[in-house]
Amino acid sequence: MKINIIGAGVSGLSAGCYLQMNGFETEIFEKHSIPGGLCTSWKKGEYTFDGCAHWILGSDKGSSFNKMWSEILDMKKINFHNHDIRLQVDLKNNVNKYGEKVFHLYTNLNKLQAYLTDLSPEDSDQIKKFIKPMRVMQKFDLPPILDDLPFFKSMLRGIKMMRYLEFLYWFLKLKNETNFTFARKLKNPFLKESFEMLYDGEEVNMMILTMPLSVFDLKSAGYPIGGSLNFAKKIEESYLKLGGKIKYNTPVKKIITENGIAKALLVRNNVIHDSDITLSAADWNFTAFDALEGKFVNPQMMNLKELKGLEVFFSVVQFSFGINADLKHLPHFSRYPLDVPIVSPDGTSYDRMEVHIYNYDPTFAPEGKTSVVVSYYTKNRDFWIDLRKKDRPAYRLKKKEFTDRIIELLDIRLGGIKDKIEVTDMATPATFYRYTNNWKGSTQGWLPGKNLLAPSPVNFSFPGLKNFYFSSHWNQPGGGLPIAIKTGRDVAKLICKNNNVEFKIKKIGSD
Ligand SMILES: Cc1cc2nc3c(=O)[nH]c(=O)nc-3n(C[C@H](O)[C@H](O)[C@H](O)COP(=O)(O)OP(=O)(O)OC[C@H]3O[C@@H](n4cnc5c(N)ncnc54)[C@H](O)[C@@H]3O)c2cc1C
Repeated sequence: MKINIIGAGVSGLSAGCYLQMNGFETEIFEKHSIPGGLCTSWKKGEYTFDGCAHWILGSDKGSSFNKMWSEILDMKKINFHNHDIRLQVDLKNNVNKYGEKVFHLYTNLNKLQAYLTDLSPEDSDQIKKFIKPMRVMQKFDLPPILDDLPFFKSMLRGIKMMRYLEFLYWFLKLKNETNFTFARKLKNPFLKESFEMLYDGEEVNMMILTMPLSVFDLKSAGYPIGGSLNFAKKIEESYLKLGGKIKYNTPVKKIITENGIAKALLVRNNVIHDSDITLSAADWNFTAFDALEGKFVNPQMMNLKELKGLEVFFSVVQFSFGINADLKHLPHFSRYPLDVPIVSPDGTSYDRMEVHIYNYDPTFAPEGKTSVVVSYYTKNRDFWIDLRKKDRPAYRLKKKEFTDRIIELLDIRLGGIKDKIEVTDMATPATFYRYTNNWKGSTQGWLPGKNLLAPSPVNFSFPGLKNFYFSSHWNQPGGGLPIAIKTGRDVAKLICKNNNVEFKIKKIGSD
């Protein structure tokens, strides 16, 4: 049975791996010349810049996502770096008892608890309440492959269910807790401001903070040395080893349907590729409204298109610099206040700056040199996409002016690096859109709403269309690489089930 897959992002590649393992003949059609989609990095001169993974959930044992990655990759062959400090936040108004304005978010929970309690013994009860749910989360295996266990068969499942209930208790208790509501419960002004500023003054559900922290502590959310593209290429390698085929530089224009059945893909140069099943692992808006011309949508999907229901995740304006300086002494990831707010050409005003120094990945720059990234998250993504479309010189000029301003600010922060910048690169939402087709340049699909676990109305199948499936980070608000592999795996399982094939894993890795 032949399956055509649109997109060699992580979801498409992983679905391809699982389908090949189960005897399907698959071929991926990818518009770009390389695998990975958003999971990417690029080289400029001697420097590599990364556009994705700061951390990959399941990089080691301690998260069941590790089991999943190990099904399609030899995880032992990837060198993951685990940071001691996840983030450094420079405050504006308060100092701690040592006279420092800097807050450190440690990844080791014991260290974090001791650090917070030392800074504010008067808040020790609240600090314990902050740490406790993370310890519970660690015991609870996230459900991704729980459904592979035989129902009610083993003691193991019983234990897992108990842990699940304990997790559920904490989840329900804290589901409305945000960094702001938590900060209000603290007495110490330095800690209050630290928690408020963790997300640059944005109010964010505490699960967004505690879920990764609980996994960082287990050293199971590391950064893959070599970068995101290297990571994606390893999945591509597995897919090809399993007998899968990929056609690069082959944008899909249409999904050809007949009487409500997906029949073939129309690609570049009007070439048609027939198949028994079509799986789109590309952008949801492109798939539903361009490739399928809006013929197979329901009211919920129409609502999404009109931006009712779910919000699109932030896009990013990413400045990357190759600096001829050894910056090993500096924190790898920091956020700090600016004296004067900076206004992006898209109208967003920022009073803080986020700097990512890749001083821990030796593959990113020659010895003595460093790749540095400054990121600004934006919801005014259409500004960049429209400007690039309508007026390319104006787009380039805006990029240049914004980059020059960032260089001035970075020069102050990093202490005179302006003359040492050898390479400059700026990616906008238009760049992310152009390379991956992600609607509005979204970096992770949908933004999670108040209900963090609520599913997306974009399902594995589209209404009224047979022999068609869809999988990507647009299936689950929050997105990210774990969701990409999980959707790829789940859709492959569904295809197996619908075709009376028992879903099996063919071992690839050494784990
Ligand atoms: C700046 C940034 C930082 C991030 N940081 C992290 C992180 O630290 N941890 C994490 O887990 N996640 C992170 N993410 C999110 C993660 O990269 C994505 O959620 C994930 O890669 C999405 O995978 P996907 O396969 O669903 O979609 P995509 O990566 O978008 O893949 C879709 C593929 O389909 C192809 N395609 C689209 N249209 C067509 C067409 N018409 N014809 C042929 N091919 C087509 C695209 O080129 C692409 O290759 C980050 C993303 C960004 C941009």
